[in-house]
Parts: sequence; C-alpha cells; structure tokens
Amino acid sequence: MACFTFSIVISAVLVGDNAGARIYAKMQAKSCEQVGIAYELKEFSDDISEAGLLGEIQKLNDDDSVDGMILQMPVPEHINARTIQAGIAPKKDVDGVNPANLGRVVMGHPEGAPCTAQAAVRLVEETGIDLYGAEVVVVGHSEIVGKPVALLLLDKFATTTVCHIGTSDVGMLEEHTTKADILIVAVGVPGLIKGDMIKPGAAVIDVGINRVKDPESGKSKTVGDVAFDEAVEVAGIITPVPGGVGPITTAMLLHSTLLAAKA
Ligand code: NAD
Repeated sequence: MACFTFSIVISAVLVGDNAGARIYAKMQAKSCEQVGIAYELKEFSDDISEAGLLGEIQKLNDDDSVDGMILQMPVPEHINARTIQAGIAPKKDVDGVNPANLGRVVMGHPEGAPCTAQAAVRLVEETGIDLYGAEVVVVGHSEIVGKPVALLLLDKFATTTVCHIGTSDVGMLEEHTTKADILIVAVGVPGLIKGDMIKPGAAVIDVGINRVKDPESGKSKTVGDVAFDEAVEVAGIITPVPGGVGPITTAMLLHSTLLAAKA
C-alpha cells in the first residue's frame, strides 16, 4: 500500500506584546503540536507600520510552505485589523476573517466561517436537537461570532433571531431569550443572561470569555456571558466557561488548517 506524508504549516502573526494574544498563541501551538501541525509564530514589534505588516502578510501569502495563517488579536491601535485581515489570502485564512470568506458564508459555504462561529454551531449540532424550524436566539451580532453563527443556522432552516445592544436598550432581551430552544450568547458582558431569562430545558451555548475578580478570593477568574450557577438549574444543556466553546474553537482552527493544506 502506498503511504503519503506531507507536512502542514500554520503561521501565526503576533504584533507587539499583548499578554492575552500571547497566551492564545501558546494554546494554539500546543494544540498544533498534539496533532502534528507545525506552528510558526511570526512576531513583529508594535511599531511596525500597517503597510509594513501588510507586506509581511503578503510574504506569507506567497510562501508555498505555509498552509494557513492567523492574525492574533488585538493589534496595536495604529493598525487597522480589518485591512490586515483583508490582506490574508482567502485560501490561507483558516480563522475565517477575510471578507471574501465571510461573503462565502452568506452564499452557503460554511467552511470559510470564523472558527468560533463554526465551534458554536458544531456544539448546537452535537445536542441532537432538530434545527429545522427550531427557535434559536443569538445574542451578539459581531462579524466574528454573532453574524456568522446566525447565517450558518439560517442555512439549517432554524428560525433565527439576532439580539444585540439595541434589544437590551429597549428592554426586550428577555422577551426573546425566554422563547429560545437554543440560546447562543456572544457579548462580552459577564453574567448578562440570568437563569430566569432561559426557557426551561433549552440548550445554552456560552461563547463569552470575561476576566472578573472573584469577590471571595479576590483572584481573577474567567467567566462567560451566562450566569452559570443559575442557568444550569434551568437549561437542558449548557456549555461551561472555561472549557466549552474555547477548546472546540481551537479544534475548528486545526480542522480548517487541514482543509487548507488538502486544498
Ligand atoms: P463584540 O464586542 O465584537 O460584539 C459584542 C456584541 O454584543 C455586539 O453585537 C453588541 O451589540 C452586543 N452587546 C453588547 N452589550 C450588550 C448587551 N448588554 N445586551 C445585548 N447585547 C449586547 O464581541 P465578540 O468579538 O463577538 O465577542 C463576544 C464575546 O465572545 C467576548 O466575551 C469574547 O471574548 C468572546 N469570544 C470568545 C471566543 C471563543 O473562542 N470562545 C472567540 C471570540 C470571542
């Protein structure tokens, strides 16, 4: 039997020395190592110009040994992240941040969607709930999570409602969330969704990652956008933070990199 081997390489671009971005890069590197993907961290100082960084991205686009690319966020203020994301070749955009890939999601091609959106939808699918006509509420409408999640679920014929700051500001958030059989929350406000805002038995996917101070110990801890202790009493299924959407997002990144390498 013939046996073919090929190496898969992902380049992660880190600008400056943001602690969060560095931790995220470390986690990605570890996951890549576990599955045999080579992870190259390309570091640039925070005084690199936008044009200079675009040039570096172009070099990676042109490098045939690189299969996938990730821009670690955040980037310094003088750099427009959207400009850089648009500079990543769509076929190497394994994080799904290039407008071309987001556009393809609109046209029914889920494989180019941002990894977090793919992870949230994968978790929904794993619940086994029939999505056809199901009442789904997505809280949050960012390009990276809320909007693509909603688009992906629309393509599965879920009845999808998107809520955001405007919904909250007019006092209508609970009205929507309590109707949801599937509730996906990607906001960045710790404990925004309380237990009484959840329909009994609903599936709750908490995408939020927030650092807060524990009032008892005074130590920092990571929590989601859902008040877990209350929500777990009401929901049928719920993802924890940490340990829920985050690891699946990394798995989706590896999957997208494999697809990019095969292509
Ligand atoms: P964002 O800031 O781009 O968007 C926030 C969204 O929440 C907006 O649509 C805004 O209108 C809405 N919003 C803000 N306040 C609200 C309120 N009070 N009520 C209702 N809606 C409100 O955020 P993002 O990049 O989508 O990230 C959202 C959360 O998900 C953050 O906590 C982030 O850290 C987390 N996140 C997690 C992963 C992961 O892998 N698990 C990946 C990306 C982002």
